Amino acid sequence: MMQHYLQTKEEYPDCILFYRLGDFYEMFFEDAKIVSRELELTLTGKSCGQEERAPMCGVPFHAYESYMNRLVAKGYKVAICEQMEDPKQAKGMVRREVIRVVTPGTNINEQALDEGKNNYIMCIVSLSDQFGVATADVTTGDFFVTEVDSKRRLLDEIYKFSPTEVVCNEALFMSGLDIDDLKNRVGIVLYSLEHWYFDDSLCENTLKEHFRVNSLEGLGLADLECGMIASGSLLKYLYETQKNSLEQISAIHPYTTGKFMVLDSSTRRNLELVETLREKAKRGSLLWVLDKTKTAMGARMLRSFVEQPLIEKEEIEGRLDAIEELMQRAIDREELREYLNPVYDLERLLTRITYQSANPRDLTAFKSSIGMIPHIRGILLELQSKEIQGICEDMDTLEDLYTLIDAAIEEEPPITVREGGIIKDGYHEEIDRLREAKSQGKNWLAELEAKEREKTGIKNLKIKFNKVFGYYLEVTNSFKDLVPDYYTRKQTLTNAERYITPELKEMEDMILGAEDKLVQLEYELFRELREQIAKNVVRIQKTAKALAKIDVFASLALISEQNHYCRPSLNQNGRIDIKNGRHPVVEKMINNDMFIANDTYLDNQKNRISVITGPNMAGKSTYMRQTALIVLMAQIGCFVPAETADIGIVDRIFTRVGASDDLASGQSTFMVEMTEVANILRNATGNSLLILDEIGRGTSTFDGLSIAWAVVEHISNPKLLGAKTLFATHYHELTELEGKLDNVNNYCIAVKEKGDDIVFLRKIVKGGADKSYGIQVAKLAGVPDSVIERAKEIAEELGRHDIVDFTEILSNKKNSATKKKKEHLDEVDLTQMSLFDAVNDNDIIEELKEIDVGNLTPIEALNKLYELQNKI
Ligand code: ADP
Repeated sequence: MMQHYLQTKEEYPDCILFYRLGDFYEMFFEDAKIVSRELELTLTGKSCGQEERAPMCGVPFHAYESYMNRLVAKGYKVAICEQMEDPKQAKGMVRREVIRVVTPGTNINEQALDEGKNNYIMCIVSLSDQFGVATADVTTGDFFVTEVDSKRRLLDEIYKFSPTEVVCNEALFMSGLDIDDLKNRVGIVLYSLEHWYFDDSLCENTLKEHFRVNSLEGLGLADLECGMIASGSLLKYLYETQKNSLEQISAIHPYTTGKFMVLDSSTRRNLELVETLREKAKRGSLLWVLDKTKTAMGARMLRSFVEQPLIEKEEIEGRLDAIEELMQRAIDREELREYLNPVYDLERLLTRITYQSANPRDLTAFKSSIGMIPHIRGILLELQSKEIQGICEDMDTLEDLYTLIDAAIEEEPPITVREGGIIKDGYHEEIDRLREAKSQGKNWLAELEAKEREKTGIKNLKIKFNKVFGYYLEVTNSFKDLVPDYYTRKQTLTNAERYITPELKEMEDMILGAEDKLVQLEYELFRELREQIAKNVVRIQKTAKALAKIDVFASLALISEQNHYCRPSLNQNGRIDIKNGRHPVVEKMINNDMFIANDTYLDNQKNRISVITGPNMAGKSTYMRQTALIVLMAQIGCFVPAETADIGIVDRIFTRVGASDDLASGQSTFMVEMTEVANILRNATGNSLLILDEIGRGTSTFDGLSIAWAVVEHISNPKLLGAKTLFATHYHELTELEGKLDNVNNYCIAVKEKGDDIVFLRKIVKGGADKSYGIQVAKLAGVPDSVIERAKEIAEELGRHDIVDFTEILSNKKNSATKKKKEHLDEVDLTQMSLFDAVNDNDIIEELKEIDVGNLTPIEALNKLYELQNKI
């Protein structure tokens, strides 16, 4: 046994081997140590023919899944080595084989899955300057492939799908992609596969054979070399782990990333599309507001809609038409939702069916679900919009499968497949005959019991059954003397004895024989039926997707109605004109009536950039995110929280919001901020929407202001970038830009002063804020009065010194105002002015000039530096 174990382990060196021994899965050696540590199980030992006992650790077979799931969730791969024959019947050692390798991205175990979320595995192939990206969900059969030409785009794809596992070729590690970041910070399980997986012809053949086609053209992969290799190798890898024919992967969907809006990881997180930034919870995210779907398939599809907003007007309008129709036909919609309510997760049920692991109750769930389709389809037939008609066409009523299951499977069958009770009476002759024999047997037994009672005079004689002895006659001690001699004693209890007779034995053989045969036959018929359903993968999947889609549209129509959303109009000329827009999530979190709606107007002419000022807590971030979310929702094809909205389709949305939680990555907040700014400036286009909150906050005022200023200048210039931008800032100096650049406008969020306090009006108005009200906000936050009072004193003190107008310096206009202010400089606390004044300090400059750098020792240089610094 140990030899076989070691051989098997050699074949799966990177897996934890669950080795079935009777009622346990055992692990040995290093595996045992890992498992006992990770799952806090006791480590024992087993003699293995070597001097020392092998470390061993085991889990009971009937509960192994929860142990396996925990290991897989921690990123381990588990190979399940099963007994392939009944140990009782095996001659010599029981034959064992690895039946499946379970990895984070290929776990089909229901307990490990979130029904509203796909469980994706991704394969990335890096080839010269291209990346092939194939993504699959074995639990639903989804299979996508694309190619991207930059690391950024690759990251965008990774974040879009957020796979739980990524496999790749070695070259990816040389591509400059920050693998450690993906592994450690993002927490993706990522590793390379052996190079043979990526062999061109192997990949090509794997794909052709799997999809039963003669050429790659038929699959739409002819022009995607990198994508072909990624999908072929992924499929190969799935074969290796799943060890079955993967019938559920019935189609491959090549797509171009140009079809969708580009959203990078920080934008996805900042806009809290599917989970919140801090708690990582669905509640509080956009998806939480939008998701009123009835089925798991619908929930997953809605999530993918939110993760991939569209950019093609026609496609968006198609969705909007469908939603509008379902809003107008509210009664039909609610009826649809009623019918969708009992529909189970057909995609995942189907996978279990194709894996031969579906139980009888799965089939009745399947039946009751498809039983809803004719009703759903009936309603859809009445609707007009093109999208819905398309759904109707894809939706197969699957009546043949319904009839099949209905005729064969009991209404309330057991979960187990080997205990009978699965097949309905009247479905199969042999079954009926065996059942008849079984119930006949019951009559014979009753007759025999009566006959024996009469013959022997034992009044309470009973025929009973147990698993060890089979049928027997039970006689209590008081009647012991009446037992005739043709009774053979089998067992003595304290107050009774158990006997058998040749006649009873004969009946037992007949009854139990019928029972065994019945159970076996029921099992076989059940398997046949399951296989027959599995042959209909394509129809079922298409129908499941159609159901998912109508579920999504019905959900979006419902929330649009409940939340009073409006249908956005779409334009291609870049104008974003939102009247009385609201933040979809914040308005739900606070009392609905309390939310103050605001307008947004941006275009490609005079209104490219809005510089937004206002105190902390005024509502700047809320306002900016609301604009981004409204645009994004419009491009999902959803109605939007506004009175009216005219949305110029954007190709990307970028957000840079506050200091994020990247501290864990070890980079300074400022560094993270600047990296993100760099990314935005490099990757945004004139058709992008930028949300920039407090750029430059992470460094000194002077640097920060300078950077913020330069960023606005760069963005506003159509030759350089020209993206539409909402820019919130603390630097009031930036409001000067309105006069200097013709496409920059100032806005502020109004507040009202009430004595010493302020009241937030939450209304965006033209113009710049004149004060920052920091002290008032601090007071609202509960900072102690003594500190507030002292802060006021200091502020007053500082206020008397008119600090030099930075904006004048930045715009290089040395007009009289600057000069006048410079005259006050003597009065100003010079420690505040370090950066600019150092440059003006002629003494230091002169000294610097005189240094003979070539002849300075390092120590002298340091000393000089020290000396100069002291003069500042
Ligand atoms: P800032 O970015 O200016 O510091 P936030 O956008 O974070 O301010 O808003 C602070 C709080 O004000 C939010 O948590 C929200 O509850 C509330 N708020 C913001 N905008 C509105 C609005 N338009 N109507 C009602 N409440 C709002």
